[in-house]
Amino acid sequence: MDELAAKKVFAMLKPRVIVLTNLFRDQLDRYAEVQYAAGYLRKGITAVPEAVLCLNADDSLIVGLADALPNRSVYYGFSAEVSHNKSPKQGEEGARCPRCGAALLYACSSYGHLGHWSCPDCLYSRPEADISVERISEVESGSDVVFRIFGQEHSAHISAPADYNVYNAAAAVAGAVAVGNNVKSIVKALSGFEQGFGRMERFDVGAGALVILIKNPVGCDRAIEYILKDQKKFNLIIVLNDLDADGRDISWIWDADFERLCEAGEKLKSVTASGRRSKELVTRLEYAGISCEKITEEKSMRKLMKAVESSEAPTYILPTYTAMIEIRQKLARKTRRRGFWEG
Ligand SMILES: [Zn+2]
Repeated sequence: MDELAAKKVFAMLKPRVIVLTNLFRDQLDRYAEVQYAAGYLRKGITAVPEAVLCLNADDSLIVGLADALPNRSVYYGFSAEVSHNKSPKQGEEGARCPRCGAALLYACSSYGHLGHWSCPDCLYSRPEADISVERISEVESGSDVVFRIFGQEHSAHISAPADYNVYNAAAAVAGAVAVGNNVKSIVKALSGFEQGFGRMERFDVGAGALVILIKNPVGCDRAIEYILKDQKKFNLIIVLNDLDADGRDISWIWDADFERLCEAGEKLKSVTASGRRSKELVTRLEYAGISCEKITEEKSMRKLMKAVESSEAPTYILPTYTAMIEIRQKLARKTRRRGFWEG
């Protein structure tokens, strides 16, 4: 749900369970700062004290926004073993104590400001997770994950790779537990769930196309990190739109780590910039140090699709929301996949 709407909608809907995933800088033009978004959510939650909160223990902003509220909480998060990074990037929002504002210390961190945090001043710290992701192995068809759910280990397959999808799966488990579902049936349902709708969605077009929605720096960085794991040559298409659903402010592209694409070296065959703001994207990619010969600008969606179809290497497509809707519709038509609304 939209954070801005939460303060009114929660009171009207009276949800039994509220699942909160994470707070990252997203749609800057509307929220200005993540703290505002946290404030809206907290306001919404105070209207529904009976609702069970499912909170990401690794996100100090999420934990902090429910601080001292009477609601019952279920926490989920990553174990230290799967949170491998050392500390968040400099200047990351949320890396400050929600109670006293001191800079947080991290025993480990998965990405962004998510991790095992504690405050050296007031000793506020990450709560223990009731649902913990103990191990993740990335496999061809997604991720094999071992969850510890209220002390018991359960294995599940998630049809999507990458850490942020595992966080989403853990959030779904927490939500299902809070509603009162049986743990065995939750794990079974999770393993049977097919990932889709532009979030790591594969299409059998050309040498293969993988669509990964991007909309903020952290999500974009995760997508780039995933792409860099590919050992083969690939093409990349990035489509940047600036309609309402994308967020009008595109300045976030300067916070996304496009510089890392240079690590792909010869594996990266080409980068095509498209969408309403393709010009700014080209500038950003050049600034990132990607060789100019590899960068092209292509406004025509028809030509983009032709390029995907005729490519001998797989294509990664990173679109913003409205571009994703258009692209997946075109790709789905080529593979005769049913629309997501057709079930
Ligand atoms: Zn503190």
